[in-house]
Amino acid sequence: MTAQAHSRVRSGLTIWLTGLSGAGKTTLASLLTDRLREQRQPVEWLDGDELRRSLGRGLGFSREDRFENIRRAVYLAGMLNRHGVITIVSVISPYADMRSYARRKLPGFVEVYVDCPLPVCETRDVKGLYARARSGEIPAFTGISDPYEAPDSAELTLRTAEHTPEECIEELVDWLTKNRPDQL
Ligand code: ADP
Repeated sequence: MTAQAHSRVRSGLTIWLTGLSGAGKTTLASLLTDRLREQRQPVEWLDGDELRRSLGRGLGFSREDRFENIRRAVYLAGMLNRHGVITIVSVISPYADMRSYARRKLPGFVEVYVDCPLPVCETRDVKGLYARARSGEIPAFTGISDPYEAPDSAELTLRTAEHTPEECIEELVDWLTKNRPDQL
């Protein structure tokens, strides 16, 4: 094992993308996964929707269930990190205490706020969920009828209404290269 791989096994790296629905978490996580794979880095991507269909099956959207969903994602990310796998997690994770839980549990936690104003997310309405939330069909929808506590201590904020996905990825990769060089 190289010295570089060794240090990755020791501390691990989890890139945690938080933000409103439609902010761009999935888009950026997908691009980052591709980029790291091209560099032959061991990487896994845990996406919110996918997690809810698998590990989080049966969980709802109460604060407790949302927390439980995050707890499971953190458990898996920690396990992957211990095996030297860079883990990208893209989940709304609307409450600050969930994200501080993840930070406490994961030594290599990097919080990335995928920041996009609600009206822009709503206009994008990638999955048609905002329209359904506004009509009351979906209760407890983050940003509409459930809170989103914007991070105040994120390592990095990506403003997706002002930049292209490619520009955001460049910013993220630059940040990682400068600040986590031993993990890449
Ligand atoms: P989320 O996973 O946060 O719900 P998605 O990635 O599914 O959001 O949707 C974000 C939408 O916004 C996509 O249609 C994407 O093409 C668009 N978009 C525009 N600019 C950006 C950007 N800079 N970063 C990410 N997505 C962007």
